[in-house]
Amino acid sequence: MTRISLVELAHKAIASHLQHGGIAIDATAGNGHDTLFLTQQVGDLGHVYSFDIQVTAINNTAIKLQQAGMSDRVELIQTGHQHWLDFVPKHHLGNISAIMFNLGYLPGGDKAITTLMETTLQALKQAPLLLNPEHGCMTVLAYPGHEQGSVELDAIENWCQQLDSKYFSIEKIMRENTRLLVPQLFIIKALNN
Ligand code: SAH
Repeated sequence: MTRISLVELAHKAIASHLQHGGIAIDATAGNGHDTLFLTQQVGDLGHVYSFDIQVTAINNTAIKLQQAGMSDRVELIQTGHQHWLDFVPKHHLGNISAIMFNLGYLPGGDKAITTLMETTLQALKQAPLLLNPEHGCMTVLAYPGHEQGSVELDAIENWCQQLDSKYFSIEKIMRENTRLLVPQLFIIKALNN
């Protein structure tokens, strides 16, 4: 049996929360894999905001969307996700069905440019303002295998502990492995109170 990857698990979690016509955010566009998934999911009536600090990532994502003929429903924003409240229109606050973070460095790119604990945390703290309080779902895939990633993971875990369990459920998934520093997926869902 082939094991489903954490990326696939993240997509699966998001898929049940993100409907046709929905609004979604990719916090780390990278090579556009998640942006393309979100874009397919929201269909031609939906909209996706996709952030990345690197021009290479924005370009790679743009190409992927173009090839799929889906560029029109995505806004690519070359800015850190910690500034996302300046870019997502006010009327979409509390109306975002899905947010995806895939942390670390750009696959195939400069490994020295990674997401950082401070800015990831800054964005995470603002995420409850964006997420739909009834059905919003956010996935955070963290890679503690490099030094920054390990510090980042600790911060994410702390942040999760501070979330009000009345409003959010948190699921943490990691593969059993003999190595200690395996990637970890957090699935955070708004609870329909
Ligand atoms: N989801 C991507 C992989 C993301 S890799 C895919 O499917 O291919 C992580 C990305 O985060 C890198 O491209 C990096 O440039 C970006 N990044 C680093 N710091 C960031 C920040 N503050 N805001 C947004 N993106 C950031």
